[in-house]
Amino acid sequence: MKTLLCSLLLGAAFGAQAADKPPIAIAIHGGAGTITRANLSPDQEKAYHAKLTQALNAGYAVLDKGGSSLDAVQAAIMVMEDSPLFNAGKGAVYNWDGEHELDASIMDGKTLNAGAVAGVKTVKHPILAAYKVMMDSPHVLLSGAGADAFAKSEGLDTVNNHYFDTEARKRALDKAKKAISQTGYQARNYLAGDYKYGTVGAVALDANGNLAAATSTGGMTAKRYGRIGDSPIIGAGTYAENGVCAVSSTGHGEYFIRLNIAADICARVRYQGKDVTTAANEVIHGRLQTLGGTGGVIVMGADGSITQPFNTEGMYRGYKTRTEEKTLIYGNP
Ligand code: ASP
Repeated sequence: MKTLLCSLLLGAAFGAQAADKPPIAIAIHGGAGTITRANLSPDQEKAYHAKLTQALNAGYAVLDKGGSSLDAVQAAIMVMEDSPLFNAGKGAVYNWDGEHELDASIMDGKTLNAGAVAGVKTVKHPILAAYKVMMDSPHVLLSGAGADAFAKSEGLDTVNNHYFDTEARKRALDKAKKAISQTGYQARNYLAGDYKYGTVGAVALDANGNLAAATSTGGMTAKRYGRIGDSPIIGAGTYAENGVCAVSSTGHGEYFIRLNIAADICARVRYQGKDVTTAANEVIHGRLQTLGGTGGVIVMGADGSITQPFNTEGMYRGYKTRTEEKTLIYGNP
């Protein structure tokens, strides 16, 4: 009885403490697509939950120490870039020619400053290169060899392109090429219905009320070399604005670019006064769906509210706040 009373009192004290403090929160995704129970073994499921939890904890630890949302999203994304489970950094998909071309972007909700890299081949952590573009250059988006050279000159870790290789992604490329080559033209269409995307993203709110968003990807399997998706495009794959919302996207990038998905969601919040859940649902289940695009987003509101809608079977995702922590995979959890 005494112990129960004690823990009730302790619980109440923690609750009061959490309520006293300004909200901090982080949400992440590890890609949306044909992710079904039939496609994942229990061991794979466990591995995804564990890695998502590790990424959430890395980002949350930054926020909990009073660090910035910009640092938190990078910390979370680096964990996933280092994991072959996701299509970002190690484990990135192959383009048609059997190489890896990586895209990443980051946005600071406080200043509306942003940085991105597209088609880098040797940067170990593309998200750090995006951050450097934002902080140390007058540009927003650097691409190809110029972006690789910039990252190197900034002292970031570089690797041989084969560092990103994995057997699973190679098999996916071989399968995709077989199907696509029947059209007789490289990367004329993508493998419909077999999108194992795996792009990673994070949005966060820090104790100072600053929002940030970031996204990192290898793009889409068998893409034509030089193809750039939505992930490094500010407004499509990533957007953050204090007092409004922060968004990271994943899905069929061409649709996300055409619909300016991340910025559209925030515009609905800013101009129409909608909450993030309504705004994100309208865009993902409305405009994206109508155009035939597939994918999802993670969205954080100015108050730390979180929504994670998608129109695919599943999306690797999770969030952590002062009071709650969750990782999820399927549409029907
Ligand atoms: N949006 C990414 C792209 O089109 C792919 C993904 O999210 O999986 O490059």
